[in-house]
Amino acid sequence: MTCCNSYSLSCHIQHYGWGKKGKESKVAKLMGTKADPNKPYAELWVGTHKKGPSFLRETNILLSEYIDKEKEAAVGRHCYARFASELPFLFKVLSIRKTLSIQAHPDKLLARALHQKDPANYPDKNHKPELAIALEDFEALCGFRKVDAILHFFSQYKEFARVVGESFVESLIRSYEKSDKDLQRKCLKECFTQLMNADEVVIKQSLAELVSALRAKGLRNSLEDLIIRIYKDFSSDPGVFCILFMNYIKLKPGDALFVRPNTPHAYLSGDCVEAMACSDNVVRAGLTGKFKDVSTLCDMLDYSSEGVDEFVVSGRSHTANIIKYAPPVEEFAVDRIQFVDPPQAFQLEPYAGPSILLCIEGCALTNLEPGGFVVKRGCLPRDVMKCGPSHFNRNYSFYTVQCHLHPCTKRTRLCGLSGVLRAWQRRGAGK
Ligand code: ZN
Repeated sequence: MTCCNSYSLSCHIQHYGWGKKGKESKVAKLMGTKADPNKPYAELWVGTHKKGPSFLRETNILLSEYIDKEKEAAVGRHCYARFASELPFLFKVLSIRKTLSIQAHPDKLLARALHQKDPANYPDKNHKPELAIALEDFEALCGFRKVDAILHFFSQYKEFARVVGESFVESLIRSYEKSDKDLQRKCLKECFTQLMNADEVVIKQSLAELVSALRAKGLRNSLEDLIIRIYKDFSSDPGVFCILFMNYIKLKPGDALFVRPNTPHAYLSGDCVEAMACSDNVVRAGLTGKFKDVSTLCDMLDYSSEGVDEFVVSGRSHTANIIKYAPPVEEFAVDRIQFVDPPQAFQLEPYAGPSILLCIEGCALTNLEPGGFVVKRGCLPRDVMKCGPSHFNRNYSFYTVQCHLHPCTKRTRLCGLSGVLRAWQRRGAGK
């Protein structure tokens, strides 16, 4: 017989400077506490990562300590054997006011090598595949554009071609004419490396010329508006030119972006939930005041130039209320659970490993029946009512993240969190 317990989690907020401020921030809203209007609330972290670990709220012990103590009973046999007292995933909510850095996440091999070489700047030795699901209109740069689009921009924006250098642009044109994909990747790498290593004075001057030409234009496209917008914050940063190298992606709520290892990306604006391997391993090279490692970034990147479709994933409709996002990684998969008019009770899917439940809109009450939580209106304990940022309308939106190692079995062990911080854990499931 299965029994289950419910655990609230106290979760960590990261106040990075790019976050939305005060009650504008979805992160601050989810916390349900009074938000300081001048303070950025950038990220909510749910998991065991050392830079922002979650606690069991009732006992105030670290989630990782709890797993360490309960072992398999807490997270299941497979998960414990593989990840010990760490959750395999980190679950976040991001609320972005201002562009995040141009970055990429190393694969496992490179992550280990960077950590060995420079533990101060690369404290993590894990890889970090990540999946961002838009909660509202969301903008990002991700992956390299197709070569013909980049060549078009070289001819359209002479400042861009000048910064990269005529001979490198010529080489890329020749590789394109030959339809030689390997050569195109090599030439694209040279062009990008030239840009990222260009002299700061040259960048500053070229950007100023480009932006003043764009401002003088009567009719601008959305990309040109974006260049002007990002330039306001980063007037001498080569990252502004990266907009012309990288795919500009606009996501609608529910659309997702899967970022593979070594793929350049930058989130520009909007709110999202994000699931990733338990890691904070980032190589940055632009649009940031943090540590930059340009040579590592230029060396590690995947220079396959692909269209937007390579990165944008729609979830798969699983039932009337559940959409599944299952990227090709073992650490995590995400379910989006949505109701317009919620039922009296809703049965969650069983999983073999740990799972987190996060309520974005509405309110939920976890119950002690195996495998379920109750979604009700109007008669909930006060702490759960508090968590629903918009419980006055009828939209209910939840996300769960779970380990993808053994996604479907009858043994159910769940560790969950809803709304601000209501979690539940099922334990003692039959062998
Ligand atoms: Zn990232």
